[in-house]
Amino acid sequence: MKEKVFIETYGCQMNVYDTELVKSILTKHKFSIVDKEEQAEIVMLNTCSVRDNANRKIYNRVHEIKKQNQNALIGVLGCMATNFKKDLLDNTKLKIDFIAGPDSYKQLPTLIEDLRETNEKTYDINLSEFETYSDVYPVREKGVNAWIAVMRGCNNFCTFCVVPYTRGRERSRDPLNVVEEVKRLVSEGYKQVTLLGQNVNSYKFEDFDFADLIKMVSDVEGVERIRYTSPHPKDYPTKLLKVMAERDNVCKQLHMPLQAGNDRVLHKMNRTYTKQEFLDLIAHAREIIPNVKISTDIIVGFPTETQEEFEDTVEVMNKVKFDQAFIFKYSERPNTRAAQKFPDDVSEPDKTKRIVECVELQKEHSLESNQSEIGKTHMLLIEEEFSKKNPELAVGRTDCNKVVSFLRNNNKVGDLVPVKITQASPHGLRGLL
Ligand code: SF4
Repeated sequence: MKEKVFIETYGCQMNVYDTELVKSILTKHKFSIVDKEEQAEIVMLNTCSVRDNANRKIYNRVHEIKKQNQNALIGVLGCMATNFKKDLLDNTKLKIDFIAGPDSYKQLPTLIEDLRETNEKTYDINLSEFETYSDVYPVREKGVNAWIAVMRGCNNFCTFCVVPYTRGRERSRDPLNVVEEVKRLVSEGYKQVTLLGQNVNSYKFEDFDFADLIKMVSDVEGVERIRYTSPHPKDYPTKLLKVMAERDNVCKQLHMPLQAGNDRVLHKMNRTYTKQEFLDLIAHAREIIPNVKISTDIIVGFPTETQEEFEDTVEVMNKVKFDQAFIFKYSERPNTRAAQKFPDDVSEPDKTKRIVECVELQKEHSLESNQSEIGKTHMLLIEEEFSKKNPELAVGRTDCNKVVSFLRNNNKVGDLVPVKITQASPHGLRGLL
């Protein structure tokens, strides 16, 4: 009998992709994937370890599952597995049966078999220098976009980040293997691919760099759109920007995680660039790719950040006017360099004051950016036939990643349609077919 497995995914796109890999690995062995927890004999939680409340959420979830489904085996996957192995396995209150780190998913069938045979908890959290799962074809959700992890791990060691410890060193897939996957995805009806990596633009396989990979993927017939995430500002050579400018099916949007605007704080974060270098890169990118839309990540209240130093972040926001920004309060992550070395000394009220200021400012900039689209016609790739908010509307995305809702016609998910922008808000656009 095939054991029934229910998988719950937390955190980043890489975890969403990893869950698709795990489904593929398990279905190849004697497991079937169910979409209801109560039907499952095995429940797997694919976890994130980036934010403080991520852990608490998982501990509560384990208790809930055990209450509802006492006989189910519980497995913890993802970054918490590598970051909190001891807590997860030794904590007797937490009834976790097995754990597997991001490089150990091919071991899952064996971990479960051993657990069944010995009734002992099992785990594998070894980090690999080679594992890229290039021989595993993920079991994906149907849709417009397919995520493809082209590299894994990160060598940057930003002091606030746990990823280099939970996902190991960088390694990239053979570009020919990636191109084969893209061709298969096109044949399955996907219109867009998003290339994934913790530090995607440091992709390197033999002599091939990220610009080469983008070109090869862009040459695949039938790929309407190519996006990628998550990049690091230190890996944006002119070659990459030029390929983005030259290729119509490469989306004209850049994610440039700034994190902070002050050089002393950037140094303490180990971000390897200065405020001026970041601003120069933005100017260079806008020169090579006119109309490129730029989003960013910002952390406020990093240890020892003063009010004056925070104002450097605000200054960069005003100089760049990002189209979109993901803004977070610093939260100390166990086992990161910052947690070991720097006291979390910026008070909660100061963190709150700073995040509110950034969010309000970004709202103004996003509105300004969206208002500049009014009157323009954009090709939209339709992602939702019926908007969740209003079923009369369909939802699509512009090349530069702006979300537009418009009165639905007979459009289907995956259609590319020209829509004239008529209204703007900080969070999105309205248009007319
Ligand atoms: S680049 Fe920095 S923030 Fe991003 S995954 Fe690597 S260490 Fe973490």
